[in-house]
Amino acid sequence: MTSPDFIYETIILGSGPAGLTAAIYAARSRCCPLLISGVQPGGQLTTTTAVDNYPGFPEGIDGPELMDKMRQQAERFGTQFIEGEVTKVDFQERPFRIWIGEELYRCLSLVISTGASPRLLGLGNEESLYGRGVSVCATCDGFFFRDRDVIVVGGGDTAMEEAVFLTRFAKQVTVVHRRNSLRATPALADRALTNKAIHFKWDSILTEIIADANGVTGVRIKNLNTQEETEQSCDGVFIAIGHQPNTSLFAGQLEMDDEGYLLARNGTGTNIPGVFAAGDVQDRQFRQAVTAAGTGCMAAIQAERFLDDLPYDPSLSCKKGICKPQ
Ligand code: NAP
Repeated sequence: MTSPDFIYETIILGSGPAGLTAAIYAARSRCCPLLISGVQPGGQLTTTTAVDNYPGFPEGIDGPELMDKMRQQAERFGTQFIEGEVTKVDFQERPFRIWIGEELYRCLSLVISTGASPRLLGLGNEESLYGRGVSVCATCDGFFFRDRDVIVVGGGDTAMEEAVFLTRFAKQVTVVHRRNSLRATPALADRALTNKAIHFKWDSILTEIIADANGVTGVRIKNLNTQEETEQSCDGVFIAIGHQPNTSLFAGQLEMDDEGYLLARNGTGTNIPGVFAAGDVQDRQFRQAVTAAGTGCMAAIQAERFLDDLPYDPSLSCKKGICKPQ
C-alpha cells in the first residue's frame, strides 16, 4: 500500500481506452502515473465482442482483448494499477486528494476518464445478454445483424441514428418508443421516419427480452394505450435510451453540462487547472473507443505540460522520472 504522504505526479481515474491511453502517454513521459481502474476494469468495451473499427486490427479484435493489450502497454512503461471505486475527491486543495474508502491518494495532476454508462431498461436479463443479441452500440455491433430483424428502443437522436445505421445490415428495424412523438431533432427524426426499412411501434415499451441458450429470439411489447402485449421475434435488441456520464463524484467541484458531462475546454482542461477530462465522461457526441483514446492522449500531454510548469518543490515526494511508489 502506498504511504498517504506519497504524492503522485498523475493519477488517472478509469481504465477504458481514454484512461489506458492517458496511462501509456503519462508513463512514457515519466510522470509515474497511478491508474485507479474503477468498478468495470476495461470500461464499456469489455461488454462488446468484436471491435471492427479500431484502427490497426484489420481482422477485428475482441473488446476485452483490446483493453488487455492497452493495459499491457501501459504496464510496460511503468503505470501502477489499483482496482477500486473512488468514493470521494477534493480538488479544493493541492495536491488533489482522492479516497477509496478510508485510503487516501494525493496527486499533482489528474486525468478523469470515468466514462459513461448506457441507461438500461431494467429488464432482468438485458446485461447478461450483452454480446448475445442485446447491444447498446449499433456502430460497434450492427455489422453482426446482417439480414436479421432487430429492435431499437428509444426516441432520441441516438435511437434514430442507430436505427438508420442498422438498416445497412438488418432485414427489418423496428423502433419501439414509449410516446407517440420523437424526442430526436427534426433532421434525424425525418431520416428515420422516411426510411422504409424502419417500422415504428408508438406508445410502446418492452416488457421482456426473450432468449434461448444462443441468445435473443424475440421481445414482448406492451402498448401503453391498450395495455395489450404482443410477442415479436427478433435477433437483436439495441437499447438507445441515453447515457449517463459517471460524474456524480465530482458534483460541486467540476463544471458539467445539464446532463452531467464534464465541460472540457482548450483540449481536455476543466475549470480546475491540473484536472483533465478524457473520453466519454466529456463526450456526449462521438463515444467511440478511438475518440476516447485520442482525448486520453491529449489529457496526458496536457497533464505533463501542467507538471512542467509547476514550480519545483523539493519537499514533494515525486519529481519527474524519480517517483517510486513507497
Ligand atoms: P435522449 O435524447 O435522452 O433520448 C432518450 C430517449 O430514450 C427518449 O426518446 C426517451 O423517451 C427514451 N427513454 C428514456 N428512458 C427510457 C426508458 N426507461 N424506457 C423507454 N424509453 C426511454 O438520449 P440520446 O438520444 O442518447 O441523446 C443524448 C444527447 O446526445 C442529446 O442531446 C442528443 O441530441 C445528442 N445526440 C446527438 C446526435 C447527433 O447530433 N448526431 C446523435 C446522438 C445523440 P422520451 O422521449 O419519452 O423521454
